[in-house]
Amino acid sequence: MILQDILKNYRRKNNSPRYTIKIDISKAYDTVDWNFVEDLLNALNFPARFFQLVMICIKSTSYSLLMNGRIQGGFQGAKGLRQGDPLSPLIFVMIMDYLTRCFLHAALDSKFRYHPLCKSLKLINLCFADDLILLSKGSKQSIKVLKEVLDGFNNTTGLFINVSKSQIFFGGVDSREKREIIRDIYLAEDCFPLKYLGVPLRPTKWKAEDCGIIIKKIRLRLNTWGSRHLSFAGRVQLIHSVLLGLRNYWMSTFILPQSVSKEVEKLCRGFLWGMNGNRSRIHVASWEKVCLPKPYGGLGFKEGTKWNQAILAKYIWAITEKRDLLWVKWVNNIYLKRVSIWSYDLKVDTSWYWRKLCRLRLKFPISEILMADSLLCPVCGDQPESHHHLFFDCCLSRRLVELVFQWLGFRGWPLDFACWLSWLSLKASGMVRHVSIAILAATCYNTWLNRNRCVFEGYSKSDSLIALDVKTIVTYRLFIVKNSKLSRQDRDFIHRLKCN
Ligand SMILES: [Zn+2]
Repeated sequence: MILQDILKNYRRKNNSPRYTIKIDISKAYDTVDWNFVEDLLNALNFPARFFQLVMICIKSTSYSLLMNGRIQGGFQGAKGLRQGDPLSPLIFVMIMDYLTRCFLHAALDSKFRYHPLCKSLKLINLCFADDLILLSKGSKQSIKVLKEVLDGFNNTTGLFINVSKSQIFFGGVDSREKREIIRDIYLAEDCFPLKYLGVPLRPTKWKAEDCGIIIKKIRLRLNTWGSRHLSFAGRVQLIHSVLLGLRNYWMSTFILPQSVSKEVEKLCRGFLWGMNGNRSRIHVASWEKVCLPKPYGGLGFKEGTKWNQAILAKYIWAITEKRDLLWVKWVNNIYLKRVSIWSYDLKVDTSWYWRKLCRLRLKFPISEILMADSLLCPVCGDQPESHHHLFFDCCLSRRLVELVFQWLGFRGWPLDFACWLSWLSLKASGMVRHVSIAILAATCYNTWLNRNRCVFEGYSKSDSLIALDVKTIVTYRLFIVKNSKLSRQDRDFIHRLKCN
């Protein structure tokens, strides 16, 4: 999304010069220099024992050759990280972190100029795994600085840039200067869309062809699977984890056009119920029904439009929560500028994704998110709601406690939080204490559940039913206890609870 904002002005004329470089690091994992990793871990002050373990993992790599079905000897590795080893991505992240610091260090050099919008955050590169994007102002000096850093990086880490797969994108640079820059760094100029993490990005809004990729990918999967040999449950699982997973990944960055979302669902429907030649078989249940959560009789698929909105609402949530994310900082820096997202006025000159996010605010007004309908207790409705009221004062809670205590055979339910603690410490000995804690927890939990039931579903259970729930939870747990290990007194206590 940051990249979207950055690319937004690339087509405009009379822009200040700028460029974006997409770098492909060739054979990223295989060519890492071991000595470099050693120095890096040392410099980051990892504990010696940990450091040794990591180095053993890296250096013990060996490869066996399999030829004509027989193992024909092998050889030891000399550099590189093992692919598929859970350790490797972590080490790689540290290496990229080193690169970022190299860039920042080089940027102190007065010749380097930051990309427009990026100066206050000191943003020079964006990277995820081995996808690397460099940003800078379009001057020859800046690109020279970047190139020096990359060369240095190559010498120290053993990683080098794959020139043929890396591209440069210009904005507002005149053609003579373009030629000179290209000659200096040997990179080819490319035109949009720029593909980052598999998502094509361009200065303008998404085009249908960009979204077409997702449909193409899903079709490809469907063709290879063929629905004939899979059970219904198997197909459901595949839709869940692969097809909708694919869609959700895209949705997490963009609002997909309605048409694409519909098409994806159509493909899933066809796959779920099976196709007969070109025509689909009878659909036993409507898609709306299939999308219901499992307890309500559906299969728990997520309905496209709503799901997309929910995912994007998460971003708004991240902003309101001031999460520690680069993107949140970015948005605060270039759009919000210390204004809260709820009172921010949408400006004309913004990215389309940001406009969509802001429009989404209308769907989830703050009054609905942060305030319940009324401030009174949703259970009894005649006292202001508070923790103390809910757990100690509410008439329903008092009746519930009486019932639970009858069952336990105790007296005197504590009447505030401090008393709770001392009440628990009084029940000093083993089993009785454990059971008391379990009962207290179950009572609180069910009181809370019932309170939520009143808020969201509009009805309350009766005190005797809730007491039954508490008893059931606790008795189930008591069945796990082995009688042979208990004292006689405890055994009697538990026996009484189970029977009442
Ligand atoms: Zn109440």
